[in-house]
Amino acid sequence: MSEKMTVPLLDLKAQYATIKAEIAAALEEVLETQWFIMGPKIVELEKAIAEYCQTKFAVGCASGSDAILLALMANDVGPDSEIICPSYTFFATAGSISILGARPVWVDIDPVTYNMDPELTRKVAQQCTNLKAIMPVHLYGQAADLDAFLKIGQEFNVPIIEDAAQAIGTRDRSGTPAGSRGQIGCFSFFPTKNLGGYGDGGIVTTNDEALAESMSILRVHGSKPKYHHHVRGINARLDALQAAILLVKLKHLDSWHDQRRGNAQSYNRLFHDAGATSSATPLSGGGFPLRTPHQLEPPAKHIFNQYVIRVPGEIRDSLREHLREAGVGTEIYYPIPLHLQKCYADAGGREGDLPESELAAKETLALPIYPELTSQQIEYVAGTTISYISQHAAVCTS
Ligand SMILES: *Cc1c(COP(=O)(O)O)cnc(C)c1O
Repeated sequence: MSEKMTVPLLDLKAQYATIKAEIAAALEEVLETQWFIMGPKIVELEKAIAEYCQTKFAVGCASGSDAILLALMANDVGPDSEIICPSYTFFATAGSISILGARPVWVDIDPVTYNMDPELTRKVAQQCTNLKAIMPVHLYGQAADLDAFLKIGQEFNVPIIEDAAQAIGTRDRSGTPAGSRGQIGCFSFFPTKNLGGYGDGGIVTTNDEALAESMSILRVHGSKPKYHHHVRGINARLDALQAAILLVKLKHLDSWHDQRRGNAQSYNRLFHDAGATSSATPLSGGGFPLRTPHQLEPPAKHIFNQYVIRVPGEIRDSLREHLREAGVGTEIYYPIPLHLQKCYADAGGREGDLPESELAAKETLALPIYPELTSQQIEYVAGTTISYISQHAAVCTS
């Protein structure tokens, strides 16, 4: 423990080193064709992702944000539409709703999984007057409770649109891939996602042929045939170069998932040995004041886009600073829930509206979990975390 180590939050260079030759060959192939927009690489990736997610169709697009935008546009979401979504998520979940003039209607999270709470969703849905869709997020790579959400969707006759940006390959409680049971699944290929491109990218999945067709037209300015516009679309195309890179990386994805899951088990073991428990027990429940991520039982599968611990709010930021000084990168996902963001001030969100989201924003911290971590690095991160908390625990258990 004495030697200082450097452990970044994510080390994309370490991964690139393992696939450099494959990537070079894939890029070279596209460069030789000089076919950069749409074309065969996009079609090949769409087929591969549809197969991976067990859906009939996939439509590549420019980002995860555009994936959500296309899904909403294909559902005729517009001014006055209400879309239920969590507040404890990345901005794009709600940003894509707002850009269409629609209103995100916030629902609090379940503090055990950090995913949107189905029972609260039902209550909020009852108060909506123009509900158009419910959008759970599979946060950090663990599935939201789709069985419950699909039932609520049926009750209120609205589709479930899955924000699966962090969850490619995630399995829900039924063992089914994220993005395959809702009406549309929205994925991101942002470089920090488990399947990340070398730039922006995204894809939507669906089993509905008409929706797939609609989204594939909307992403090219609503043009079909060329220069004939029956709908108003956007430019949300995926690059052929990105598709070629993603096809290479997709082959490795399951083994990267396995490595992330193995790293999570190592962290869990070290933290539990120190007396920590999982987030199934609230911090107020006592014991060593650290909670590891609760994992749903198999056949559910958490792909650990993030490994997020929970510590008392009083020491979260100083722990983060201590880790930074020790050479360890961390991040807070997300420090300010969306209902308290300045840009949503006019929507009337107040402190106290969503207590679990607000508390999680103060107590959570993401540790490095990338596949190439060594066991020494994991021990160093866990050891540094445990000793800091042990020394400062008095502050928080009193
Ligand atoms: C990354 C992310 C998005 C947006 O994806 P981009 O590709 O960055 O546009 C949307 N929702 C969630 C939950 C995300 O994590």
